[in-house]
Amino acid sequence: MNRRQFLSVNIASLIFGLASAALPAKTTNISAEQVGLLVVGAGFAGLTAAVVAAENGVKDVVVIEKEPLIGGSSILSRGSWAVSGTALQKSQGIVDSDEEFYREIMNAGGQVNNRDLVKRIIPENRKQFEWFLSRGLKPATVFAEGSVPRVHAMDPEAMILELRRAAVQLGIKIRTGVKAVELIVDKGRVIGLKAVQSGKPINFYVKRDVILCTGGFGRNKKLLEQVQPLMRNVLVLSAQGSTGDGITMARKLGANLVDTEHLKASYAFTEDARGIDDKTLANYLGAVIVDDNAKRFVNESNQYRYIADAVLAQPLGRSYLVFDQSIFEQLLKIESDKPFWKEVAKDKKLSYVFTGKTIEEAAKNALLDPEILKKTIDNYNQNILEGKGDPAFKRTPIVSSNQKLQPINKPPFYIVSVKACILGTTVDLRSTTRRKYSTRKENRYLDF
Ligand SMILES: Cc1cc2nc3c(=O)[nH]c(=O)nc-3n(C[C@H](O)[C@H](O)[C@H](O)COP(=O)(O)OP(=O)(O)OC[C@H]3O[C@@H](n4cnc5c(N)ncnc54)[C@H](O)[C@@H]3O)c2cc1C
Repeated sequence: MNRRQFLSVNIASLIFGLASAALPAKTTNISAEQVGLLVVGAGFAGLTAAVVAAENGVKDVVVIEKEPLIGGSSILSRGSWAVSGTALQKSQGIVDSDEEFYREIMNAGGQVNNRDLVKRIIPENRKQFEWFLSRGLKPATVFAEGSVPRVHAMDPEAMILELRRAAVQLGIKIRTGVKAVELIVDKGRVIGLKAVQSGKPINFYVKRDVILCTGGFGRNKKLLEQVQPLMRNVLVLSAQGSTGDGITMARKLGANLVDTEHLKASYAFTEDARGIDDKTLANYLGAVIVDDNAKRFVNESNQYRYIADAVLAQPLGRSYLVFDQSIFEQLLKIESDKPFWKEVAKDKKLSYVFTGKTIEEAAKNALLDPEILKKTIDNYNQNILEGKGDPAFKRTPIVSSNQKLQPINKPPFYIVSVKACILGTTVDLRSTTRRKYSTRKENRYLDF
């Protein structure tokens, strides 16, 4: 498999390179099946892996998915896909390059990313994107989240359906309601996998490989808190199936979880968030963030993942965005797709939005200390109006470099209770037992 190599999305996958395994003689009531390639998980990673394998001649590919429906977190995603050097960018005169994309990824990752992997992903990612275009899918638009408009707005549901269509055309079997539970090892090699279907055990034996594409572990509270204790108060929007099953199975064979220190949450999600639409960028438009004591505690212009860290470190993991009418008017324009702002504009009561003609009134409604919040905002405003900027946290304007920090002084005032949220667990699996579990000469492990 050398084309596209399922590197397109955040894949926590591990390939177990294997010798061909024949079905063992039947000694129990457990049903057994022999397949060519077994892919576990039917999200972007698993379906892509299966399709690429079949396109490259692998026979008898089977995908198992524990949920009744395919798609995992992939189908819940916003579909924002960063790709460099695309035809859409060129047609809009956007100048971009793989080198620039590489620089931005490395900068965003504080230069600690796996350089080889980043270099490899960038062109493979484009090939995968072009695969979808070749099948008739189109990005709705391309927009900037960094220096260059590079984020292509795709429809994740259409992508999953297209992968499924390709799988069907290639004769791949996708079996839902089949949960992988344990890798089967024989003489130091993975030869298959134990699974459960409708409460009954079923063993798969593979001629080639087992590929684990079971996604992240946002829904595995124990593992999440083990990896990062701050996550005890985090909201989770990952798919229900994101319980780290593949990670657990691989760890039993000695694979390690790596880069755990880089696990970060996203920010700022409304308290009752159900999807990506329940996130706001209000702090980047000038809203101040305060804690339960009505005091600022973080630089609001920081990257959202560092703000999330600071919020999660709060005793209850809560935070409040405080802003005025002029910021609200900007939000209505910039976040016109967010249903909750429209509801606030219509004066609809939402359990996490509090308003008032004065800061004190809004604070009272939000059960924050009115006097302290008034002091916090007065102090913030005073520094801005005196041209001192933000000496306490060194906040900078984000939306445009020409923009100045704006005081929060135009009534009415708004307070929105927001939290940090896990969309995915960017932690990788790495095998430390390559020799033990693979006889292949080439490196068939992806060091994610
Ligand atoms: C709300 C939201 C918005 C997001 N927006 C974006 C975005 O705009 N851009 C972006 O790049 N990323 C985004 N992400 C992250 C992105 O969706 C994920 O990184 C990506 O979808 C992961 O793909 P995957 O195939 O690895 O996992 P998944 O899509 O989760 O697929 C894994 C599958 O494996 C199945 N599975 C798990 N255990 C087993 C088992 N034991 N047996 C059988 N099957 C099993 C699961 O049920 C699941 O269907 C978002 C995530 C969320 C939750």
